[in-house]
Amino acid sequence: MTEVQSHTAPAPHLVHVAVDAPQHSGLSRPLDYLSEGHLPAGCLVRVPLGRREVLGIVWDPPPAPDGPTGAPADDGPTGAPDDRPAAASADGPASPAGDASSDVPMSLKTVRSRFDPLPQLPRPWRTLVDFASAYYQRGTGELALSVLPPELRKIDPGTLAPRLARLVRRLDKADSARQAAPSPERPPLSDEQQGALLAFEAARQQARPVPLLLHGVTGSGKTEVYLRAAESVLADGRQVLVLVPEINLTPQLESRFATRFPGRRLVAMHSGLTPAQRLSHWLQALIGRADIVLGTRLSVFAPLPQLGLIVVDEEHDASYKQQEGARYSARDLAVYRGHVEAVPVILGSATPSLESWQRAEEGRYQRVTLARRVGDGALPRVRLFDMGTLPKEKGQPPVLAPLVLAALQQRLERGEQSLVFLNRRGYAPVLHCADCGWKSGCPHCSAWRVFHKGERTLRCHHCGFTERVPRACPECGNLDIAPIGRGTERLEEQLATLLPGARIARLDADSARGKGQLESRLAQVHGGEVDVLVGTQMVTKGHDFRRVTLVVAVNPDTALFASDFRAPERLFALLMQAAGRAGRDAAEAAHSEMWVQTWHPQHPLYATLKRHDFVAFAATQLAERRAAGLPPFSHLALLRAEARDPAVAMAFLRAAAEAARPLPEADGVMIYPPVPPPIPRVAGVERLQMLVESDSRVRLQRLLAGWLPTLHQLRPAHKGLARWAIDVDPLGI
Ligand SMILES: [Zn+2]
Ligand SMILES: [Zn+2]
Repeated sequence: MTEVQSHTAPAPHLVHVAVDAPQHSGLSRPLDYLSEGHLPAGCLVRVPLGRREVLGIVWDPPPAPDGPTGAPADDGPTGAPDDRPAAASADGPASPAGDASSDVPMSLKTVRSRFDPLPQLPRPWRTLVDFASAYYQRGTGELALSVLPPELRKIDPGTLAPRLARLVRRLDKADSARQAAPSPERPPLSDEQQGALLAFEAARQQARPVPLLLHGVTGSGKTEVYLRAAESVLADGRQVLVLVPEINLTPQLESRFATRFPGRRLVAMHSGLTPAQRLSHWLQALIGRADIVLGTRLSVFAPLPQLGLIVVDEEHDASYKQQEGARYSARDLAVYRGHVEAVPVILGSATPSLESWQRAEEGRYQRVTLARRVGDGALPRVRLFDMGTLPKEKGQPPVLAPLVLAALQQRLERGEQSLVFLNRRGYAPVLHCADCGWKSGCPHCSAWRVFHKGERTLRCHHCGFTERVPRACPECGNLDIAPIGRGTERLEEQLATLLPGARIARLDADSARGKGQLESRLAQVHGGEVDVLVGTQMVTKGHDFRRVTLVVAVNPDTALFASDFRAPERLFALLMQAAGRAGRDAAEAAHSEMWVQTWHPQHPLYATLKRHDFVAFAATQLAERRAAGLPPFSHLALLRAEARDPAVAMAFLRAAAEAARPLPEADGVMIYPPVPPPIPRVAGVERLQMLVESDSRVRLQRLLAGWLPTLHQLRPAHKGLARWAIDVDPLGI
C-alpha cells in the first residue's frame, strides 16, 4: 500500500474528495480532507467516511466565491456550452487559491491511501462528471463513483498495483506477438459515403467540431462511415469511443470493428461483462492501451486520455437514457463530451430523434444524408392492410389478414424468410373469467399479470410477481377461464397452425433470457434454419438478416393514440427499423415488403411511412410540437415521488410546489399539478409525478438548482415517503 508521502513542509494540504454520498444525505459536493502530500485532482484515493473507509476521487477545488456558480450556465448537454468553471482550474495543488494551508481546519480527517501507479482521471472526464451531476441534479461523488468499475471499491491500492502490472505485461506480450496485420479489404465507398467522410474530415479540422448528424436509411452503409472515420482518427494515435444502444447489438458491431482493425485493441463496456473484465477494460482505456472502446450508455464515461472521436449509433434509441439514479442521456452527454474535448461526434440513425433533427435544422449540428442503400437496392415496399374491412369471427378479427397470410406462404414456397412482430410478450396480456368477471390482476401493481402458457404462470411484468396459473377461477371456481388478447407466445402458436410445416422461432425477452439463447436463435436465422421469426421489437433491432424479404407488423396501432407525446416518434422509428430488416440483399430488395395491419390506414403517420419519408414525418411532428410547446421547443423535468400511501407522495409534491413559488428562479418556469403516471402502483408503492416546464433550458436548470436544497429539507417532514427524484429531460411523461 502506498502511503501518502509528505513533501517538505509538514503542514497538511486541504483536498476535495468526491465520495459516494447518496443523494438523500444532501452532500452533493466533494468533501474536504487533509493530505500529508500534494494530491493532484483526478487521483483515486481511499478515505474515511463515517465509520467506513471508501473509494474517492480527488476533485478540483470549487470555483472562487465571486466566480460563476456551479450550475451549468449554458445551453445544456446538447448545446454548445462554454467550459465549466471547474475546467478552468489547472491540475494544481488541491487547495483554494493562495491558501498556504494556514486556514486548513485540523479537525478534518486524513486521506488514508492513494492508488499510486494509476494515472489520474483526466480533467475533461472530471468536467463531464461535474456537468452531468449539475445538469441531472445529483451529487458529484454519487455520479462519479457510480460510473467507475464496481470492483475498484473492493480492492485497496496494494492489490491494484500488482494487478495493473500484470495487465501491462500481458498487453506488452500480446503486442510483441502480434503479426503485422494485413490490411483488410475495404468495400468501395458510395458517393454519399464519400460526402459524409469529407464532412467528417472538415469537422475534424475545426477548433470546435460541430456534431455530425448522419441520417442514413437502413442498409445505406452508416457503419462503413464510422469505420473510415475511426481509421483516420486511429492513424493519428487517438482513441475511439463507439456507443450502441443495447448490449445485444454489441457483438456484431464489435466484430465489424475487430475485423477492420486487426492491429488495434478493442474493448467492450457493458453490463454483460464480469466485474474483473469490466475493471480490466476500464484500466486499458484509462492507461491509453485500448484504441477502441465500444459499449452501452455507461461507456460515455470511459476515461480516454487520447479521445479523438465519439460515435453514437442509433442515436434516437430510448435506451441511451438511464432510468434510475442519475437519469442521464448518454447521447446528450456524448455531444457535451465532444464539445469539451474538441473532438468530432457522429450521431447516426435512420430516424434521428426530433431533438437532434431540430438542432440540425437550426444549424447547430451538421446534417449528412445517406439516402440510398448500398448497391442501390430498393427499400421494401410498405403496404397497409385495413383490418376494418375483415369480417369478424365470434366478434374477433383474424390474427392475420388473408393477403398477409398469402404473402407469408409465398415466402415459404420461395425459401425466403419472414419477420412477424408484435410488441407484447407472453401468451395473453390477461386471463378472464366470463362468469364472474375476474381478471388476472397483480395484487401489488395497477397492472394485469400476463399469462405465460409455456411456463404455466401468471407473471407481472412490472414487479415480477409470479404464480402458477390457477386451474379454475379463484373467485367463483369456474373451470373455463380464458385468455384475452394476444402476445408473441400465442402468435407463435397461431402461426404454426396457419403455416403448417413452417419452421417458426420466437425472439423476445422471455425466449432470449438464458445465456447464449439470443445468439443461438440469431444464428439459426442466419443459418437459414428458420422460416418465420416471431417476436417483439427485439427482432427489428440492428440484426443484419440477409434472407428476410417480408416483415409483418401485426398490430402497431396502439401507439398512435398513446398519451405520451413521443409515442408517434417511437412508432415511426420502430416501423422504419422493422422495414429495414427486409431486402438487405440488393438482389432480393425488389420483391421485399412490409405489411402493416392497421385499423387506421388513413393516419398521416402511415402515409409518410409508405413513402419512407422521415423528413416529412419530422416536419409534421416538429410543427405539432412547436404549436403545443413541447420539446424540443420547451424543456421539461419531472419531480417523482413514491410512497405506500399516495396521500404522502401527494403532500410532498404539493409542498415542493409551494416551496418553489417564492424562489426568484421560479420566474418563467411552470409547475403543473401532480398526476399519477400510466401505471401508478408498482410493487405496492404508489407513484406520482409533477411536470416542470420552461421554454428556457437555463431557467429550468436555475430553478432545479435552487429548488434542490429545499427538497432535501422538506423530506423529513413527510414520513412514509419512500423515494423522490428529479428526472431532467424525461423520455416519458
Ligand atoms: Zn369467476
Ligand atoms: Zn406486479
